[in-house]
Amino acid sequence: MKVGVLALQGDVAEHLSAMRRAVRGRGEVVAVKKASQVKELSALVIPGGESTTIGKLMQKYGIDRAILSNPELAIFGTCAGAILLAKEIENYEQFSLRLMDIAVARNAFGRQRESFEVDLEIPQLGERPFHAVFIRAPIITRAGRGVEVLARVEDAIVLARQGRYLACAFHPELTRDARLHRYFLEEVAGLS
Ligand code: GLN
Repeated sequence: MKVGVLALQGDVAEHLSAMRRAVRGRGEVVAVKKASQVKELSALVIPGGESTTIGKLMQKYGIDRAILSNPELAIFGTCAGAILLAKEIENYEQFSLRLMDIAVARNAFGRQRESFEVDLEIPQLGERPFHAVFIRAPIITRAGRGVEVLARVEDAIVLARQGRYLACAFHPELTRDARLHRYFLEEVAGLS
């Protein structure tokens, strides 16, 4: 399996190393900078960063069209990447791939809580809580019918899956815990 990390802006190096730990020799992990690379991929990470910048660069290099024309591609969008998967962005006019039936609000935790860390219960990852780092994070404010909600902070949805798409409001690449990357590869993208 070839797994790409979109390498236009944001937490690219961290995701490349987290993915390499999670793949454990079962596939190849590559940095994706060109549209022509996308058709060879089975899975893609869209990292955290600045969603407006990543969106503009995606369009500039035709990567958006390449993603939309690869029907098998599994996508893991973290933070800015989750925003780029959403059908609807409540508080900004900006580009998104609109692949998941979710609405998001950007920078939704407010000034006092721009960055914080919390232990999340995510039953799909086992009993041990997942230490989640939030940095100017979005929240998922609406999840459509086909969307499975996997974790919340208070009432806000922060992790959700729809078929081969996984949207995460926090930064799983910033801790040593590779369970969410592994869950994406094995359960969402079907790596055996
Ligand atoms: N606030 C950023 C955005 O809206 C996302 C933050 C992040 O990816 N750490 O694009």
